[in-house]
Amino acid sequence: VSGRADPLPALPAELPAEATGVFTTRSGGSSPPPWAELNLSLDVGDDARTVLANRDLLAGHLGAHAIVFPRQVHGRHTVIVDGPVTAGAPEADALVSRTAGVAIGVLAADCLPVLFADPVHDVVAVAHAGRRGLAAGVLQATVARMASYGADPGHTTAVIGPGVCGRCYEVPEQMRAEVAEAVPGTWSTTGRGTPALDLAAGAAHLLATSGVGEVRPTGICTVEDPRWYSHRRDGRTGRFAGVVMLNGR
Ligand SMILES: [Zn+2]
Repeated sequence: VSGRADPLPALPAELPAEATGVFTTRSGGSSPPPWAELNLSLDVGDDARTVLANRDLLAGHLGAHAIVFPRQVHGRHTVIVDGPVTAGAPEADALVSRTAGVAIGVLAADCLPVLFADPVHDVVAVAHAGRRGLAAGVLQATVARMASYGADPGHTTAVIGPGVCGRCYEVPEQMRAEVAEAVPGTWSTTGRGTPALDLAAGAAHLLATSGVGEVRPTGICTVEDPRWYSHRRDGRTGRFAGVVMLNGR
């Protein structure tokens, strides 16, 4: 992919060389406001043809034969993807693949996209982890599903993508208490001293306790960084993607 002229300013994920992973930004597509420009979601009111053209642009950027997104429901269900999906998007919050050239992605606008790669056993995965998914165990479920496909958590790298940070994600006191009980590390406080949740810290904790060998947070806050979509900041807006693909040998 590198070295080619490419108008898509996506953030490369620090994954092993056997995999390609990116977090897209708002830039590079053809969606009009309020979704401008590279909205990848079919569920936020943007024109479907525009969204599919944006997805094609991303597939071209990755050099992928196909790109698959699930229908996300904030749960912990995982689905194996071995090729292009023709019968509608699978309902899941995590996808796992060992097929080179097929990109798998999740969509977000404050929730965390998390990319996984085990380059020794050729397994990649992607998870959509918001407050509910984290508490439901979507990350542990993803690691377990990868293992069922031959992956070893110790050889796995996970990259935590852009999401709302622990200073921006204000929640009611009781919600903070409940989530922090379920997901250690999430207890946080806003700059104003009100209760908040740190999803990335919680994700890093869960990944480490699941045995994932290398955990790399991007540390980017979607609310504070205008390069990314933020539902909390903008309300009606688009969705960016975290996408991973196994490269061919
Ligand atoms: Zn923030």
